[in-house]
Amino acid sequence: MGRVSTVPGPRTPPLRGTWLVDLDGVVWLAGQPIERVGMAIAALRAHGVRVVFATNNSAPTLEQLLARMRAAGIEAPPEDLVTSAQAAASLIQPGERVLALADGGAREALEARGAVVVEDGPADAVVVGWTRQFTFDRLAQAATAVRQGGRLIGTNEDPTHPTPEGLLPGAGALLAAVETASGRRAEVAGKPHRPVIELIAARHPEVTAVVGDRPSTDGLLARALGAPFALVLSGVTGPGEEPDPPADVVATDLFELVEQATHGTSSTPGESAGTTVGP
Ligand SMILES: [Mg+2]
Repeated sequence: MGRVSTVPGPRTPPLRGTWLVDLDGVVWLAGQPIERVGMAIAALRAHGVRVVFATNNSAPTLEQLLARMRAAGIEAPPEDLVTSAQAAASLIQPGERVLALADGGAREALEARGAVVVEDGPADAVVVGWTRQFTFDRLAQAATAVRQGGRLIGTNEDPTHPTPEGLLPGAGALLAAVETASGRRAEVAGKPHRPVIELIAARHPEVTAVVGDRPSTDGLLARALGAPFALVLSGVTGPGEEPDPPADVVATDLFELVEQATHGTSSTPGESAGTTVGP
């Protein structure tokens, strides 16, 4: 990137373009805001950086995600959110019948796409996302609809998600059950897979950093977008763990990352005259 930055080193993301920021483990942990994230986002925006958010969590609706962000001190319009639910919906044609074994966020995205959401087959596609309403009967309906020809789509394949009580099953665990019962492999929509990469590339062509806590999703997404991967240790990755793929920069949390980035470039003229908020 050609910019000399004394404190953080040359691999710290630049204070320009668009930073793509993960939610779970970066902005909040199990719904609790992570300290000083609101200040970190405000500082980025004050430097003229556009901030957009990308989550593999397909369960909350957009309004629920925005409310959680507001509770963390972050105001953002819905168009600054990219979700695995939207990525899954991008694989559906308007008018198709979709059996949704998933929660409100996925259903909202499918309906916005013009899909007809059904509870039982036959269906053109079966979309599996994280839901607590996962029962033997719903598994049987989903697997049967796939066996009868419905395309199997997973919003994401995260095996777990972190909570204060430890790791709970993620959407990947539910998807694996449907794959096993149907005998088919799913197309996965969320990070780091092609559907969400295409969605991000179309909506936000100038990504200059991907900030996340999970190398297997956020790190690989950064690679696919050709952007630096900034790993924060406020989520599923602990200090001392060897990230795979490796991170370009590691910080305790988003606030510390932004501190590094702003100190490294604070004397650069013309970088801090930006407007406060996109879009
Ligand atoms: Mg995360």
